[in-house]
Amino acid sequence: MKAFTYERPRSLQDAASSFAAKPSARLIGGGTNLLDLMKLEVETPGHLIDVNHLGLDKVTPTENGGLRIGASVRNSDLAADPQVRRHYGVLSRALLSGASGQLRNKATTAGNLLQRTRCNYFYDISKPCNKRTPGEGCSALQGYNRMNAILGTSEQCIAVHPSDMAVAMRVLDAQVETMSPRGKRVIPIADFHRLPGSTPQVETSLQQGEIITAVTLPPPLPGRHIYRKVRDRASYAFALVSVAAIVDADGGTIRSARFAFGGVAHKPWRVEGAESALAGARLGDPTARAVADQVLAGARGFGHNDFKIPLLRGSLAAVLAEA
Ligand SMILES: Cc1cc2nc3c(=O)[nH]c(=O)nc-3n(C[C@H](O)[C@H](O)[C@H](O)COP(=O)(O)OP(=O)(O)OC[C@H]3O[C@@H](n4cnc5c(N)ncnc54)[C@H](O)[C@@H]3O)c2cc1C
Ligand code: SF4
Repeated sequence: MKAFTYERPRSLQDAASSFAAKPSARLIGGGTNLLDLMKLEVETPGHLIDVNHLGLDKVTPTENGGLRIGASVRNSDLAADPQVRRHYGVLSRALLSGASGQLRNKATTAGNLLQRTRCNYFYDISKPCNKRTPGEGCSALQGYNRMNAILGTSEQCIAVHPSDMAVAMRVLDAQVETMSPRGKRVIPIADFHRLPGSTPQVETSLQQGEIITAVTLPPPLPGRHIYRKVRDRASYAFALVSVAAIVDADGGTIRSARFAFGGVAHKPWRVEGAESALAGARLGDPTARAVADQVLAGARGFGHNDFKIPLLRGSLAAVLAEA
């Protein structure tokens, strides 16, 4: 690991000023991803700014009946929060499906949103990777790509975003709050993560020096909250395919339904157009097939990950059978 300096600012303003003044600095939340990347010298920041002691560790109601989740709230605490368990079950379930108890005790809301891809070649600095070093090439395209994306890929990068929490936040239409010396911003989660395109190293719409302060959830949505994660082991494994769903149905007839998918793209994947025609449809296989056809429009496997296309179909059918 390369040597670095460390600072624990006393206020958000101090953290923002320091971050803005040192473009090569990184913020540190739980450190469960950043420190691994530093040990492998995939990331080599000269300075770390610890954002754990800035009072961003609260979950509070918002004026419109939603919830505000501080950037430093631990994944375990968020999953166990009574409001989250009661009204945002999809989020609690997604969080509990991620990583391990020990990791969830350290991992923060902001850090989880900003965790880097788990593409093997990104972590192996002896292998070309456009995300690590733009212009170098993509080892996964012709290599072992079982965990990689089938939707929204580019010739530059076929990595997936590995977060479970972010998939649930996408189905909930969460918003990300930030601050920097330039002011505050609110970014809809739909616009927060980016597709790789020709700049796979640019993963989010955050600007240089911006700190995530919170994530807000809108008022609770009626319906069954489901998170289905298919993975190689029952725990401690990243998603091959995951589905976050909120389905409001009465006697087998859908009133409204929304779905987001993980493990398949560079960002949590949601096709709102596939949801809008569902009111009045019956729960069951024909509906699952119709939604999957729209979600998978343009899907492409790269060999080892071709199985994700039928797996997404089967996962969606299982979710609709459970709803
Ligand atoms: C073995 C293992 C298995 C795992 N399995 C899963 C899994 O199944 N599902 C899953 O979703 N995740 C999984 N994870 C990933 C884990 O959830 C993430 O490492 C964790 O959520 C990252 O949060 P953190 O607070 O530790 O982030 P850090 O490592 O501290 O930071 C991550 C990034 O966020 C930035 N950052 C931190 N705070 C802020 C802020 N306030 N504003 C702006 N930027 C900030 C940092 O600069 C860094 O770039 C696994 C991790 C490991 C090691
Ligand atoms: S898929 Fe993306 S992260 Fe993986 S090797 Fe290719 S460029 Fe790097």
